[in-house]
Amino acid sequence: MKKVAVNIARLVLAVTLILSGFVKAVDPLGTQYKIQDYLTAMGLGNFVPDFLTLSASVLLSGAEFMLGICLLFAIRRRLVSKIVLAIMVTMTLLTLWLAWTDPIHDCGCFGDALVLTNWQTFWKNVILLALAVIVWRWPLEMPRLISESNQWIVFNYSGVFILLFVALRSLYTLPQFDFRPYHIGADLREGWQKMMDGEDSPYTDFFIETVDEGEDITEQVLNSEGYTFLLIAPHLEQADDSQLDELNRIYDYSSEQGYPFYCLTASSEKAITRWQDMTGAEYPFCQTDDITLKTVIRSNPGLVLLKDGKVIRKWSHNALPEEEELTERLEDSGLGKMPSNSVPTKILWLLTWFVLPLVLLTIADRLWAWSKWLRKKNKKYNPLNKEKRIMRKKIVAGNWKMNMNLQDGIALAKELNETLKADKPNCGVVICTPFIHLASIAQFLDQDIIGLGAENCADKEKGAFTGEVSAEMVKSTGAQYVILGHSERREYYKETPEILKEKVLLAQKNDLKVIFCIGESLEEREAGKQNEVVKAELEGSVFNLSEEDFRKIVIAYEPIWAIGTGKTATAEQAEEIHAYIRSIIAEKYGQAVADDTTILYGGSCKASNAPELFAKPDIDGGLIGGASLKAADFKGIIDAWKK
Ligand code: PEP
Repeated sequence: MKKVAVNIARLVLAVTLILSGFVKAVDPLGTQYKIQDYLTAMGLGNFVPDFLTLSASVLLSGAEFMLGICLLFAIRRRLVSKIVLAIMVTMTLLTLWLAWTDPIHDCGCFGDALVLTNWQTFWKNVILLALAVIVWRWPLEMPRLISESNQWIVFNYSGVFILLFVALRSLYTLPQFDFRPYHIGADLREGWQKMMDGEDSPYTDFFIETVDEGEDITEQVLNSEGYTFLLIAPHLEQADDSQLDELNRIYDYSSEQGYPFYCLTASSEKAITRWQDMTGAEYPFCQTDDITLKTVIRSNPGLVLLKDGKVIRKWSHNALPEEEELTERLEDSGLGKMPSNSVPTKILWLLTWFVLPLVLLTIADRLWAWSKWLRKKNKKYNPLNKEKRIMRKKIVAGNWKMNMNLQDGIALAKELNETLKADKPNCGVVICTPFIHLASIAQFLDQDIIGLGAENCADKEKGAFTGEVSAEMVKSTGAQYVILGHSERREYYKETPEILKEKVLLAQKNDLKVIFCIGESLEEREAGKQNEVVKAELEGSVFNLSEEDFRKIVIAYEPIWAIGTGKTATAEQAEEIHAYIRSIIAEKYGQAVADDTTILYGGSCKASNAPELFAKPDIDGGLIGGASLKAADFKGIIDAWKK
């Protein structure tokens, strides 16, 4: 149920972030204008230069898209879910302010593709925030779509795609998808007429006035039969001047052919004169609202071709029509015809160059992971195979005991984290630390590689038990494991089998995996009572569990006479009693459970003796005390599984 909820939340968030990031990245100038609107509403409009708002536009939309991709593929699940939550908290507060004060009418969260009112946006964000909380609470419930080792391919590919092939490409040419009312095919004449008739129309701010007399010639321009060129330059002062000759050439062509040509701008007469002096422009200039001009075309300057009042072509100043294209009359050339609807082609392009490669990569990755799993499984279950027939997990767990202050503990955990990220272990690794370290270490530990555990927890759920730490508290730090029944706690803190039974139940109730320690003293071994002792310890505290719960327990056999003494049980001694422990588990729960139970050995285990111990069929790893306090020593033991 929890998993289903998390993954529904993940999917909804991922799709929303990908779509909203994409529609913004596809129109970087539109997003920049929106950022400028926000800055103006906050009174900062004049302080931030254009290049910063434009860079912010590209980076923010790219980041939004990438967060969606990371969620979809479950890349860096914990970090990404925290970032998404932080963003959703900020956006919900921001949109509440917007809805309340209404300084901007459309928040722009889906660019021009979907325009929501401020209150609609706020409620949308409340829902997304709730989903972000779910994902943040249980990030590890999101299964990866692709193995960790291949995630960089998805990340880099998507990053290059959204930044280079979507945002920068749209910036250089024009938005690949045009959601504005001036898109190719838009009938301005009809829309404007509707507006004049008092009907709803998106062209209420569209007007064209002559510069000198202020005469409104909108109707004349839109009603003109045949072709009309509109050179759009919202602000001539900021217009790109690298293509001036090209523009003059196009103007000469239009005059020769008798096509009207107007330059629409919101600049002052002074700026127009300066432009004329600088460029030798002879075309007529008209005044239009600057926001309207920015909406007409995302290029300053940009060129629009109308035919009978309909937009049939648009060019950015970086991709104006070539000289060879403007030789014959527009009526006779391809340029004078409206291109066929290019949206399906563009969607196909997207699917071919972005979606398909990722789908193929995911399939290849899954097949690879599946074949790896199959090979491993066959190896384990081949009856001819002399290696251990195990399904059970191999684990090396560290028990720091009462060592390391917080700073030293964090340093050790960081060192181990980096070491094992660089050289992945061949077994499960767990570090069990004093309580005070847990929350800090959980913040950075990559728990896909290193599990984190406590060394103990209380036998009471909560209440007036001064100094105790409950299983729920341990779990709330981010830890997943707890050691229970260690001989030092049995001996010095008089933990009886009954107390331990309670602790095991509470730990499991709080979803902690228990590493349950058993083992005999020197006298007991000398008296030949080791089997009796371990059996009683299991019966006293864990054999009451259901099969399902027992399967979650890891057993650690630790002969007390070998703990911290430098004396190790020989590999044969250890194997003998491990085999015995497995046999009594089999008696109680059946052979299948016994075969699946991980039984660790503990007691002066070091890098030098670990390979021999771990080679034994019933020894599935170690619980390590002293040698877990130095990263290199601990790594030496972990590497025993690579030998
Ligand atoms: C332990 O206390 O769990 C232990 C195995 O300690 P050491 O490795 O130091 O013997």
